[in-house]
Amino acid sequence: MDRELYYDVAVVGGGSAGIAATIGAHDAGAGTILLERNPYFGGQATHSQVHSYCGFCTNGENWTQVVKGVGQRVLDKLQAMGKFDGFVVSPTGNMLMYQDPEYTKLALDELMQESGADYLLCAAVVDAEVKENRITKLICSDDEGLFSVHAKRYVDASGEANLASLAGAPVEFHCEQSGSLVFRMGNVRVGGDYSPAAIKAAVNRALADGVTGISAVFGTVGYVQSTEDYTVNIISLKIPGLDAATQTRCEMEGRRQVHLYAEIFKKYLPGFENSYLIYSGPRMGYRESRRICGEYELCKDDVKHSRKYPGRSIARGGWGAELHLGNEDVAYAEERGDKYFDIPVETLIPRQVDNLWCGGRIISADLAASSSVRVMGTGFATGQAAGVAAALSESNRCMDIPAIREELIRQGALI
Ligand SMILES: Cc1cc2nc3c(=O)[nH]c(=O)nc-3n(C[C@H](O)[C@H](O)[C@H](O)COP(=O)(O)OP(=O)(O)OC[C@H]3O[C@@H](n4cnc5c(N)ncnc54)[C@H](O)[C@@H]3O)c2cc1C
Repeated sequence: MDRELYYDVAVVGGGSAGIAATIGAHDAGAGTILLERNPYFGGQATHSQVHSYCGFCTNGENWTQVVKGVGQRVLDKLQAMGKFDGFVVSPTGNMLMYQDPEYTKLALDELMQESGADYLLCAAVVDAEVKENRITKLICSDDEGLFSVHAKRYVDASGEANLASLAGAPVEFHCEQSGSLVFRMGNVRVGGDYSPAAIKAAVNRALADGVTGISAVFGTVGYVQSTEDYTVNIISLKIPGLDAATQTRCEMEGRRQVHLYAEIFKKYLPGFENSYLIYSGPRMGYRESRRICGEYELCKDDVKHSRKYPGRSIARGGWGAELHLGNEDVAYAEERGDKYFDIPVETLIPRQVDNLWCGGRIISADLAASSSVRVMGTGFATGQAAGVAAALSESNRCMDIPAIREELIRQGALI
């Protein structure tokens, strides 16, 4: 292979977790590269129009911010562009911020350009070479062919545990929760009643009129600031595998439903009468797929009882368990109020591969805990921790946890 690149740390995936991992590792002193297969950063925030950054705060009257660090730097960038002016309460009663994918793309470009770390867009990691429980290099592909990235340590922030899986670390595949193809509608009357109850009533009217072929009555819409656009998140599809054939079927079915729902919203949801479909996706959003089997599996009780892990915590979770199991309402497993839980470092560590750390949606967690920590605010936090841990440790079997925590605090993270 004529192109061989050498780094201390290589990060796979430029979503919330990967951006934070890369900046975290670089700021901790490691020569770092970020590899992203899309032509822009942001992961599902940009590629699947997931319209709100959740998990930066606890929910409840006395809410507090629980994620800062690199995540805060993203918010600061968006604020400088006039695209963030504080957290808001959503129609489902949660604290979040609505993001506009086009500005988020630009904000993340600028953040990466200023970071000092290296990065490649349009670069897919397709294989990993492993020797004696350590990844020795990544095989990557772009439109020129294949190239290798050799690093001492690696971070998997791929959202699908693609690197962990390629490297032979134990992973579990889950599809209990549905995915969705989010779409954007223009020329909507701003400020109408687009609550889940209003959406449900509209969809039920369509069903009563004999409309068939849709997957859900529960849905949310998100206002795109300074426009007459709303993003719609309603389609509910189980994604039973990650092979291309399965994904092809799901994408096509999602697209078929996008057009059907767009017509339903126009006809049955007051405020959408004159709306039109702007675009969908580009890609189906996945709430879950692979998760690593880690050294510790975060569990429902950790979330429910706001458990603390003194001396081992590397991030805070403020979001409640939020289960999307079918086509009816979302199950918020418990009201979290304004408390947060700690995320211990062992949730980032896969078994059997000694120089790999994981961040974001794929960290080791049971169904309920995963439905909490997958949100992107928390993803920035676990990603940053994975990057710092990778920068400071020779192996995940032997980490200086106080030093990792000290560095995270120095970088402005809340742990
Ligand atoms: C319908 C839906 C609604 C949601 N609603 C919310 C919400 O309102 N708020 C919220 O905060 N979260 C929400 N989530 C959850 C959230 O979007 C994800 O859990 C989150 O994006 C995960 O972040 P991540 O960084 O781990 O992975 P991702 O955002 O998935 O990013 C992973 C990145 O890795 C890249 N990648 C993968 N494999 C490779 C490879 N082999 N080579 C190179 N690059 C690779 C991908 O292209 C991608 O850019 C929602 C999810 C869905 C599906």
